[in-house]
Amino acid sequence: MTDLSHPDLEALGGYIGDCHRCPLGSTRTRLVFGVGDPGARLVFVGEAPGRNEDLKGEPFVGAAGKLLDELLGSIGLRRTEVYIANVLKCRPPNNRDPLPEEIATCTPFLAEQLRLIDPVVVATLGNFATRYMLHTDAPISSLRGRLYQVDGRQVVPIFHPAAALYSPDKRDVLFDDFKRLRVVLDRALG
Ligand code: URA
Repeated sequence: MTDLSHPDLEALGGYIGDCHRCPLGSTRTRLVFGVGDPGARLVFVGEAPGRNEDLKGEPFVGAAGKLLDELLGSIGLRRTEVYIANVLKCRPPNNRDPLPEEIATCTPFLAEQLRLIDPVVVATLGNFATRYMLHTDAPISSLRGRLYQVDGRQVVPIFHPAAALYSPDKRDVLFDDFKRLRVVLDRALG
């Protein structure tokens, strides 16, 4: 039986260790645990590390990460003030979609990160994070723009920043969704 209850993120990171619980352990370069303020009120959940993240061991450091930094800046936040994690901690080869078995193996660690950080608001970036948090198969396009309550937290589904790199019309939608996220956060923090 896996003991998933840990006193803090550092202990959880140590427990995950040099993970080979799924086959991605042997194709990744570095495991990407997550980064940011362990006491953050706002957590972002992305999909999985890409090439740059895999090399650096940090989430959202490539082109999508640059846009995420811009989006954060547009609502007066820096990445050190939030926490950023992913559904998967290891890069799928060639950035393919996460497989159901990989999600099932890896997300208990994300759940434990959320329990330890205990944020008020979780912003899910893209389909995989949103489907995981909302327990649904619906596409992000039909879920974004609304607020959901899950296990006492407010969940705000947002397009993945990478989507705006491929379809520039999503850029404005993303900036609008971040404005809404700011409102949700301000309300939640009273
Ligand atoms: N895309 C993600 O979903 N997560 C990252 O960390 C980087 C790119």
